[in-house]
Amino acid sequence: MRLWKKVIAATAAVGTVVFFFMAVDVGPHEEYSPDPVETAVVDTVPLPPNAYGIPISGFTMEQGSIKVGSTFGELLASRGVDLNAVHKLVELAEPYFDVRRMHTGRPYSFIFRADNELQPAYFVYEADPVEYVVFGLGDSLTVHVGRRPIKSTQHTIACVVTGALYNDLARVGADPQLAMYLADLFAWSVDFYRIGKDDVFSLSCTKQTVYGVRYGKPRIIGARYISNGRIKDAYQFAQDDGIQQYFDGEGNSTRKAFLKAPLKYSRISSNFSKRRLHPVQRVMKAHLGTDYAAAYGTPILSVGDGIVEQTGRTGGNGNFVKIRHNGTYTTQYLHMRKILVKKGEAIQQGQVIGEVGSTGLATGPHVCFRFWKNGVQVDHLKEELPNTAALDASLMPAFTQHRDSIADELIAAENVARGRVVNF
Ligand SMILES: [Zn+2]
Repeated sequence: MRLWKKVIAATAAVGTVVFFFMAVDVGPHEEYSPDPVETAVVDTVPLPPNAYGIPISGFTMEQGSIKVGSTFGELLASRGVDLNAVHKLVELAEPYFDVRRMHTGRPYSFIFRADNELQPAYFVYEADPVEYVVFGLGDSLTVHVGRRPIKSTQHTIACVVTGALYNDLARVGADPQLAMYLADLFAWSVDFYRIGKDDVFSLSCTKQTVYGVRYGKPRIIGARYISNGRIKDAYQFAQDDGIQQYFDGEGNSTRKAFLKAPLKYSRISSNFSKRRLHPVQRVMKAHLGTDYAAAYGTPILSVGDGIVEQTGRTGGNGNFVKIRHNGTYTTQYLHMRKILVKKGEAIQQGQVIGEVGSTGLATGPHVCFRFWKNGVQVDHLKEELPNTAALDASLMPAFTQHRDSIADELIAAENVARGRVVNF
């Protein structure tokens, strides 16, 4: 890509320039997202997007983007910056930015004083749409990290389900991706395979922009689902640890814990492994489950609420039951002596679904427990399952107030959505 020159209209900019130089790391930026509870306008004085807060008139700028394989040192050397200066800059940058982390395709600029078009006064690298690193190349070498302001706005929308939620959200002008977030949010309380016509979803979300360009993902701060007069709700709220979680209207976590094991008393006889010696076949094979040894006939428990997706018998698995807990998690229990549930049956956490046996390829009585997350078999003992503790009682008053303010908006949006359907 050819470099192009641009004269900064610095005189026009000087009056409105704000400095956003900060000594912060240039890491991923999720952690900088403003607290979604405070949805007021974050920035009031816009920074010219390409001026990097450099407040002197009469500059020219050359812009380009990082090419495959190009390095900080090479780039600067190509503009006459000597090696000693490069080393010094790398050192100065170290606390904020690792120059080896410049990514292909990201924009950079060389900024020249109008009276010296040979030696650049600054080199600027745009680490991401928000943060940029300004290297001062003058007599004293400097490094600053600047930030563009992130603007956060809140939107509340509701839709009546007519078909696919994705399309219904798009129809009312919402980002259809929110359908996935809703499915995740209500994974434990709503069966998304059974959403009915005329059910209503409402949600409040924050969206972030940087100079009008969308930044990051929208974040749901509250949502309701109404089906046959029954309401499921979820509100984002941070406890004292500062971590945002979702709670239902009563302050219970919207997530539920799984039982740690499918047997009450058991010992693990074989762990999840990508490679182990198969005890029957005597060959190296992946073992995508955890084996729990127990006596014949020991009751096998479902680790969570769900629906029996499959029961059956195969040569390897023996008698097995597979349970779908929600859109994300599915579990399977192998080698049963006896299956005690039927396909399609609704199951409660801790319900007995079968008896320990050694059907299929097994050397002795045990349950091979398999755990799927989004269709991929994972080691459930290593899964970071969501925090499921209820809200601390001391935070209930603050939560209630927060909940009510969001719920008011959700209800208003629901009324509008319902009205729309009647009018059409
Ligand atoms: Zn196994």
